[in-house]
Amino acid sequence: MKHSSLTMGQMIKRAETFFAKKEIISRTAGGMQTFTYKEMAERTRRLASSLQRLGIKRGEKVGTFAWNHHRHLEAYFAIPCSGAVLHTINIRLSSQHISYIINHAEDKILLIDEELVPLIEQCRDELSNVKAFIIMSDHKEPPTTTLSPAYNYERLLEEADPNYQYPDDLDENDPAGMCYTSATTGNPKGVIYSHRAIVLHSLALGLADSVGVSEKDIALPIVPMFHVNAWGLPFAGVWFGTKLIMPGPAFTPKLIAELIEEYKITITAGVPTIWLGLLKELQAKKYDLSSLRSILCGGSAAPKAMIRVFEEQYKIPFLHAYGMTETSPLATVSNLKSYQENIDLEKKLELRSKQGLLVPGLEMKVVNEKGVEVEWDGKQMGELCLRGPWIVTEYYNDERTASSFKDGWLHTGDVVTIDEEGLLKIVDRTKDLIKSGGEWISSVDIENALMANEAIFEAAVIGIPSEKWQERPLAYVVLHEQYKGKVTVEEVLQPLSAQFAKWWIPDDVIFINEIPKTSVGKFLKRDLREKYQMDKIN
Ligand code: ADP
Repeated sequence: MKHSSLTMGQMIKRAETFFAKKEIISRTAGGMQTFTYKEMAERTRRLASSLQRLGIKRGEKVGTFAWNHHRHLEAYFAIPCSGAVLHTINIRLSSQHISYIINHAEDKILLIDEELVPLIEQCRDELSNVKAFIIMSDHKEPPTTTLSPAYNYERLLEEADPNYQYPDDLDENDPAGMCYTSATTGNPKGVIYSHRAIVLHSLALGLADSVGVSEKDIALPIVPMFHVNAWGLPFAGVWFGTKLIMPGPAFTPKLIAELIEEYKITITAGVPTIWLGLLKELQAKKYDLSSLRSILCGGSAAPKAMIRVFEEQYKIPFLHAYGMTETSPLATVSNLKSYQENIDLEKKLELRSKQGLLVPGLEMKVVNEKGVEVEWDGKQMGELCLRGPWIVTEYYNDERTASSFKDGWLHTGDVVTIDEEGLLKIVDRTKDLIKSGGEWISSVDIENALMANEAIFEAAVIGIPSEKWQERPLAYVVLHEQYKGKVTVEEVLQPLSAQFAKWWIPDDVIFINEIPKTSVGKFLKRDLREKYQMDKIN
């Protein structure tokens, strides 16, 4: 069989050829704008031609610093399809990390949202390789910025070649994308995605047994395009001709609810904190969200209690998935098997709140501290290792590669169990697991149980040093407004005794107003550990 290259040019070509009339609706600072795939494809060619004119060569990196909107989507295709590398930069990182990754990736051009320009101006003097800045704005006037040389995106497109031809000799193993982890410790680590990885990952997103993204969907990617390619939804969506609604800058739970209602969204995706926020909004105001066939939730464990409220009270199906920057990210999806559909509701919910089954195309193993594979009995814990066409095999120019990639496997740093059915459950991140009296305690399990309490909005559990036990769990809890000041530590802990052994119950509960979050909305336990130390000193 003749081998044809799995490169991204075919994705945008298919959208233009078969789905010319389908729409992308984009929210920017200026309001909502609608584009057809025909228009999008032409604008994408124009952007690619502008980048060539500005001197971008094969394999060079072009950084994007932007929210989820149509221009960012155009960059998602123009950059890799023209042979350059799309480097999405997390806008919520510290100035120091932002300049670190722009320099480390050696970005030559940066595409920046107008409202985010001040963040890049702040670190301009640190940026050693950037030759030009393109400001993405709704108008065509020259940008007002100290960045130089700075071009206006719309003006560049106006002057560009609409008939630009993408090169047809790209290799499927050529680099297409690049992303850095959000770094809870040390500098962010970068990974490169090949064309082949992105094409195959997009196919996997379309499988009925994974996320099932299709032409019939109306998708709202809430997960940022600056973090693991919005979980690949923009790539798959364009390829399949899915109608895309891009939520734009600084959205709120209210806006999410309104967009779902107005555009009859069928699938949306984001981290649990987004959906906890949406729940609050739904409790305050009535919306018709019946169009939703799936809320795709990943990035950290989806609390069972949250899934239950969405599904039972609001009749909105949830789909729990797991992955990481290093895995493009889709690795597992929690779908039931056909013969599990008839088991009782509680058991079903239990299964679906696990992270689920490995996506076809990937391989996994779970190894204990001695490197020996553990049994799939749902009890034995070990570190999850993954490999496959969209699992990266190294960090970009980073000596930390050696500790995470061994014998061709990515060592994820996630401690998991696998049950007899092959369902994966994340017990904890290696660094968050609590070791008490020589036994492991899962902070995630306790958090999920705490969040099943109707008085509790958010809960995070950390291990604190104990002379006797080595470590003991401590819970930080945020109460819903109406319960503040009315709930005791005992009332928070008492319900846990039905579910956990005594030694799993946290030693104490500290009520706070908000759990600190990472740049992508995950609980930042490092900050809680520091807070604990500081509070102890004071
Ligand atoms: P960062 O490492 O900066 O947080 P990633 O998005 O790459 O950025 O995070 C990947 C990690 O997030 C995984 O290693 C895992 O610990 C956690 N994670 C992702 N999805 C889930 C999930 N569904 N349940 C529990 N943890 C998850």
